[in-house]
Amino acid sequence: MAGKIIIDTEKCKGCGLCVVACPKGSIVISEQSNAKGYYPPRQANDDCTGCCNCAVVCPDAAIEVQRDDSNRMKAAGHHSKNSKASLVEDRA
Ligand code: SF4
Ligand code: SF4
Repeated sequence: MAGKIIIDTEKCKGCGLCVVACPKGSIVISEQSNAKGYYPPRQANDDCTGCCNCAVVCPDAAIEVQRDDSNRMKAAGHHSKNSKASLVEDRA
């Protein structure tokens, strides 16, 4: 797995934008609601590439993406093979 998502389920409002944005089908809405009654997503498979699409579209900044190269970011720009230089941390 090249990437992994960490979801702050209590920040999530269950809009589903991250599910639609993921090119790998790696996010599904979970069956368990959070304290506010919203259904947050969960990682559904090991295909995550760490592209950060989900983190970028989340209106509540509830997703953090962790990459195998140990770069942690809450949002990132274009992903490329040599992506280290293209990663940005703009929601710190
Ligand atoms: S980082 Fe990219 S591949 Fe991974 S779950 Fe988010 S949108 Fe999907
Ligand atoms: S985009 Fe954010 S608020 Fe919407 S379902 Fe995904 S994690 Fe929750």
